[in-house]
Amino acid sequence: MFQLEIAKPLFQLKNDLLDFVYPQSCPICKEPLDREEKEVCENCWRNLAILPYPFCPYCKMFFEEEEAEHEHRCVSPNRFEDQMNFAVRSLGTFDDHYKTLIHRLKYEHKIPLGKRLAQRLGEQLTQDKDFINCDLVIPVPLHKSRQRQRGFNQSEILAEGVSQVTKIPLATKILMRKKNTKDQTHLDIQQRKENVKGAFAVTQPEMVMGKNVILVDDVITTGATLNECVRMLLDIGAKRVFAVTLAVVVE
Ligand SMILES: [Zn+2]
Ligand SMILES: [Zn+2]
Repeated sequence: MFQLEIAKPLFQLKNDLLDFVYPQSCPICKEPLDREEKEVCENCWRNLAILPYPFCPYCKMFFEEEEAEHEHRCVSPNRFEDQMNFAVRSLGTFDDHYKTLIHRLKYEHKIPLGKRLAQRLGEQLTQDKDFINCDLVIPVPLHKSRQRQRGFNQSEILAEGVSQVTKIPLATKILMRKKNTKDQTHLDIQQRKENVKGAFAVTQPEMVMGKNVILVDDVITTGATLNECVRMLLDIGAKRVFAVTLAVVVE
């Protein structure tokens, strides 16, 4: 563990040094970045697709009409029992562009990029009356050994940005991951549900009771992880939970 802890800052230092010595290129179009461009070129940033509609996180149906979201009764086996108290928004679908940017954030430690994406996510939410009236912003936590390994929690970077833009207070210590779950990449829906079952705990239930909570994560795949967190928060007495992510996997 000790080795990992000292390796991380060195890794980041190397990253910073490389950025300084070699001019950066845009991770999406590979063109060199201008001096004032940060992480992504302005053209790609402008063209980054923003989802115009809310959607169901389980069957991935998009709702073009405002009422459709509230009337939707999902029949997907993946469905969360009480959808009435739960809604989801994502900035975009998990296309090659979002995939590239999220990879840069998570595995190449591009925290400024995460902050920029978070700001955009927050700005989108300020146009949504359900979300703007929330009381707390909570990131989906990493297990502490995973966080130590990575050096940061990407969901926390995103939650911080959302909180700054929306002015809704951030709470990073309320929800914790007590089980170090397996990587879910190669798991199917049932295995994912099993994998995250009982993985989370709420440390200060009184902070959540009766509150409208915004839960932040990077990507929705099957919704299993979010489900588990939402269930936890609602069981403990949260009034409603609104989940937000950078991207949603649609196929
Ligand atoms: Zn570009
Ligand atoms: Zn559905």
